[in-house]
Amino acid sequence: MFRVFLLVYTITTPALGLSPLGLDRNFTMSTAETDEYQCACLPSFNCIPEKHYCNTTRGVGCYSIKERTSFGVDVRRGCGMDNQKHLMNCQGKRDNVWTDGPDIAVRCCSYSFCNADNDPELKATKVVEEMTFNMSMLMAVLVPIGVLIIAVIIVFFVFRHLQKQRPESRENLRVREELLPQEYGGIRVTQVGDSTLQELIDESCTSGSGSGLPFLVQATVARSISLIECIGKGRYGSVWRGRYHDENLAVKIFSSRDEASWLRETEIYNTCLLRHEGILGYYASDMTSRNSCTQLWLIMHYHENGSLYDYLQSTTLDWEEMLRLCHSAAAGLVHLHTEIVGNQGKAAIAHRDIKSKNILVKSNGLCCIGDLGLAVTHTQENNKIDLGRNNKVGTKRYMAPELLDETLNPEYFEAFKQVDVYAFGLVMWEVARRCVTEGMVDDYKPPFWDVVPSDPSFDDMKKVVVIDQQRPAIPNRWSSDTILHQMSRLIQECWTNNPKARLTSLRIKKTINQLLNQPQCKKVKDTNKC
Ligand code: ADP
Ligand code: MG
Repeated sequence: MFRVFLLVYTITTPALGLSPLGLDRNFTMSTAETDEYQCACLPSFNCIPEKHYCNTTRGVGCYSIKERTSFGVDVRRGCGMDNQKHLMNCQGKRDNVWTDGPDIAVRCCSYSFCNADNDPELKATKVVEEMTFNMSMLMAVLVPIGVLIIAVIIVFFVFRHLQKQRPESRENLRVREELLPQEYGGIRVTQVGDSTLQELIDESCTSGSGSGLPFLVQATVARSISLIECIGKGRYGSVWRGRYHDENLAVKIFSSRDEASWLRETEIYNTCLLRHEGILGYYASDMTSRNSCTQLWLIMHYHENGSLYDYLQSTTLDWEEMLRLCHSAAAGLVHLHTEIVGNQGKAAIAHRDIKSKNILVKSNGLCCIGDLGLAVTHTQENNKIDLGRNNKVGTKRYMAPELLDETLNPEYFEAFKQVDVYAFGLVMWEVARRCVTEGMVDDYKPPFWDVVPSDPSFDDMKKVVVIDQQRPAIPNRWSSDTILHQMSRLIQECWTNNPKARLTSLRIKKTINQLLNQPQCKKVKDTNKC
């Protein structure tokens, strides 16, 4: 179990002194849970950019972690995520008392800048310093060390021997050495908990509304991941396959200039209930500052089939496979778009960058939606649209006409959902082209491949979609196939010019479900036809 949870339950009066960060302190102890104050912040994803503090409320509080890592002693400070999570991470205590584990010390507290100073010496160091030097003690130290060194040498040779017998593992090591950029520091190893990721996630189920690991655990997990190979490059950085113990996971590494996208994705996953089979699973976010360069990581479930775009390049589909891909992606979109009211609920979310590269294909042939860096949220209670701080826009090829002619009303949340549905229509068109009927299939092509260049400009798209009102061509063979014919009607109702006339994501999902239930669409085993 993680030492991060070992807290001392003694209550002391917090010591107030001058902040080492040179920040003013507010000594007022407020009683209301909602009173706002600030915590020292060093580095954490909820720091106010370029400041050394973050805002919190009395109901949530501040934390400090001092941890011994293989890079030295790491100190992190920041604000808790929300009341429930923070309380869980602090095991219900916000009493400003440090834990006293040998390699990690944690403190949770709840008044202004209470986490700013007074980091204790980590115990292990203290013990070594206090030791008096004498002969018997020298023997007591040297003998176990000698035994340990011999054991390490034996393990090393056994391991090397095993490696030689497993060419795949050798290959992994080679890939690791060649591909790891220097700045990522190679393999990151520190103290590792014994729990699997799933166990950690299950433990966090009770901890509130976020969908990842408890957030104090996130940094510890991140520091125990080995990066293995680069599996994708997107607009905001690169995606790597990583290993945590024996488990694969995907690590998205954002360049520091795209902090806003990392922050947005982190925020959405940590504040919204997003655990759903149609949404890419999330484990953790991590921000570290090493060699004066900021590393921003987002740690997700890994899917070896890659994106729907990758998958469609090499795979043809029968009716059922096509419908299952579209149905599962539509189910993910419905979950995003739906607000769930209540304590454990979620805001409505519009994705704003729906495309086949942002949908992943799981090993069971179903899809999940990823890349929430542009998402906007809305809650009916206060009718507030939260656009985040990201001034990026979606992928031009998939932009709806109202974005291209700039008539979209950003005050009206439904408009963002309608934009998602337009793009989803294009994605279904890409999928349906790969469905084999009577031995015929269309090559994979991105939407508008025949009328715009490979990296189209805003004006290229505007000319085609708004001025000429073009949409991707529906191949002739679709009209003679019952299922593809109905798919083409569904697709056209998604990309229609008038946003209000478009289907809702729920209607799309239900219609595909009806198609899946048609008797001719039950798969005949060992054939590629319905
Ligand atoms: P960006 O925001 O930079 O576009 P994405 O999250 O869309 O990043 O990922 C870029 C690419 O990396 C995807 O198109 C896909 O090929 C690959 N990828 C992303 N996440 C995963 C994952 N969880 N498992 C496998 N491949 C992934
Ligand atoms: Mg992407």
